[in-house]
Amino acid sequence: MQDFEVAIIGAGIVGACIFSELTRKGVKTVLLEAGSDVSNGSTKANSGLVHAGYDPEPNTLKARFNIRGNQLYPAMCARLKVDILQCGTLVVANENGREGLNTLYERGLINGVQGMRIIERDELHEMEPNLADNIDIALFAPTGAVVSPYLTCIALCEEGVVNGGTVKVNFKVDKINKNNDIYEIFAQNESVTAKYVVNCAGVGANEINALVGAPQVPLSYVKGAYLLLDKSQQGFVHHPIFPLPTKLGKGVLATPTLHGNIMFGPNAIPCEPHDTTVSAENIAEIKEKVELSVKKPNYKKVIKLFAGVRVVSGNDFVIEKQDNENFYYTAGICSPGLTAAPAIAEYVVEKMHENGLEFKPHKFVARKPYTCTEKMSKKDLKELIKTKPSFGKIICRCEKISEGEILEALNSPLKPVDVDAIKRRVRPTMGRCQGGFCLPKVIKVISSYTGIPPENVCLNGAGSEIILDDKNTK
Ligand SMILES: Cc1cc2nc3c(=O)[nH]c(=O)nc-3n(C[C@H](O)[C@H](O)[C@H](O)COP(=O)(O)OP(=O)(O)OC[C@H]3O[C@@H](n4cnc5c(N)ncnc54)[C@H](O)[C@@H]3O)c2cc1C
Repeated sequence: MQDFEVAIIGAGIVGACIFSELTRKGVKTVLLEAGSDVSNGSTKANSGLVHAGYDPEPNTLKARFNIRGNQLYPAMCARLKVDILQCGTLVVANENGREGLNTLYERGLINGVQGMRIIERDELHEMEPNLADNIDIALFAPTGAVVSPYLTCIALCEEGVVNGGTVKVNFKVDKINKNNDIYEIFAQNESVTAKYVVNCAGVGANEINALVGAPQVPLSYVKGAYLLLDKSQQGFVHHPIFPLPTKLGKGVLATPTLHGNIMFGPNAIPCEPHDTTVSAENIAEIKEKVELSVKKPNYKKVIKLFAGVRVVSGNDFVIEKQDNENFYYTAGICSPGLTAAPAIAEYVVEKMHENGLEFKPHKFVARKPYTCTEKMSKKDLKELIKTKPSFGKIICRCEKISEGEILEALNSPLKPVDVDAIKRRVRPTMGRCQGGFCLPKVIKVISSYTGIPPENVCLNGAGSEIILDDKNTK
């Protein structure tokens, strides 16, 4: 007997969606992640947009899963109890770009995007007063939306766990054996067995395929960097604002984030698979390009630079099954992969079902959302603090995060222990000071709750200890 029916390798948005889909169908599933937390790859560093679907070439997997994914997101977010900002998206241009916008509009119609319209100058500048003066027209797609990509991924993994699934972090798959139709999947000294394997390893897709003799997929890697501005800039733009796309991609956008920040980026630079550095040239390029769409961005309010890596395979996603094997692989899941992930999951799980994977009757258990004291009424917050005083003790002043919220995150289904993992769940260190004031306090709360000595509390996995003691400085 194997330990699990299905093992999924890689806990980005694609692996997480498949995990949620399978566990909700009563399938005993394990999700294996190399990092110390889920959402460790491209999924934690992207624009966070649920694309409407006018970009992909018609009749591609990208087009098909973009449209379906976009349709699935609102209900998925409601089920997961995570926020989605259904504001629509704008592609802006000057008069010379009218033909390009019409082409996008026509492509959107072929792909099945609902409700798009071309907006003319007066209405457009009323919608977005900070547009550059020479912007004349836009394509508005009301079905475009903004989510928190990492929180959505975390929520999917939590949902899978409360529905009977298992998540193993710090599990970097390095060997796979197959005996009597059962796969044994290894990470250093540990192993799990499963009847079906799904490779969702992002930049690591070809390494995993090589372990089972599945085909190598031609992949290239393209970095995209961002500037994140603090919440004082909320309202600078109300929609994600794109320039007209080029062969290199969708271009540098200005967008609101779900939490009230403003973000500029990404650019597109060929890179090594794990290169997430941001250079002065990257920053200059983003500034130059975003100012083609918006005027007078306040760069003094930039609080964070970061980059994500797109994994690209030609013009389309690769979603295949190895011939005569119960091994499935996804590769080249670049943009719009965040949007497409729920639809990719639906498709892969259906294929597995057609190939013999049985679904079992299952009583769905809803995931519990995190308490957010900032959103509570004064009256409700007072009541909460009466019974749980830790919700009245502010740890992160910028984001107004209480000790109670951090403790709740530490006690959540995946039992995260790293500072970044707590940050991605309930936001301490996310604000203007970026942890300058609250980091020691966050470390102290993590340490007292978990028993991990403060000098062993990590930012993001082993080797990223924050406090240097005598031992570490020698
Ligand atoms: C700059 C940028 C902007 C983007 N903007 C958008 C957007 O706005 N909207 C949109 O729809 N899409 C967007 N995308 C695309 C989207 O982010 C990706 O398509 C999506 O995150 C891919 O998810 P994934 O699960 O395939 O990969 P990942 O998120 O990279 O997850 C793969 C996981 O596999 C793990 N792994 C690797 N090797 C192993 C191993 N050996 N053992 C165990 N685990 C392993 C990794 O640690 C990682 O956690 C953007 C991408 C980038 C880079």
